Amino acid sequence: MPSSLQLSVAQIVPVTEAEGPGRRFALWFQGCPLRCPSCCNPEMLPFAGGTPMTLVAVAELLRAAHVEHRLEGMTLLGGEPFAHVEAAIALVDEAHRLNLSVMLFSGYTLENLHADPGAQPLLDRIDILVDGPYLRDQPEKKLRWIGSANQRVHFLSDRCSADDPRWRLPNTVEIRLRDGVVTVNGFPVAGIGLGLRTR
Ligand code: SF4
Repeated sequence: MPSSLQLSVAQIVPVTEAEGPGRRFALWFQGCPLRCPSCCNPEMLPFAGGTPMTLVAVAELLRAAHVEHRLEGMTLLGGEPFAHVEAAIALVDEAHRLNLSVMLFSGYTLENLHADPGAQPLLDRIDILVDGPYLRDQPEKKLRWIGSANQRVHFLSDRCSADDPRWRLPNTVEIRLRDGVVTVNGFPVAGIGLGLRTR
């Protein structure tokens, strides 16, 4: 592991059931080059900001969460994970060492990503890709964990599948109070305007 590698982290939730199948470690990268008109995480757009963390430190949090909660997987969000490709690859490799599945939300489409040779090594490591921008006026009503109906779910390995009945359960929102800060993650909820951090 390149111990000097740094991740620009907007938020970490060590265990969540609102960001994909099962109990998952979720990490939001700080920084996105896209400007989707109804972005639900505008505070995560600037590349300046967030919390710089070494890969070693994040990997240790991941390991500890797995020991405590017996995780099924890890989910990467943002921000835009493909704008942090080196760090994301290194973290995904850590997740694979723990035999965790990897789900990733990207504002790029799979076609965009296939056209970018730099994206392929990360694509090759992902089990589930949710692609495309979040569009507030097209809420997804059938598939759990997906924000808007334009976003597609690609099962890129045979480890996970659309046949998993958990994809059709009601959506999930989690609200936490940590160190005096309220955070919300999961399905974007219109009207929660309390300065909360959401996906
Ligand atoms: S890709 Fe995600 S974080 Fe980036 S602008 Fe679009 S919705 Fe916002």
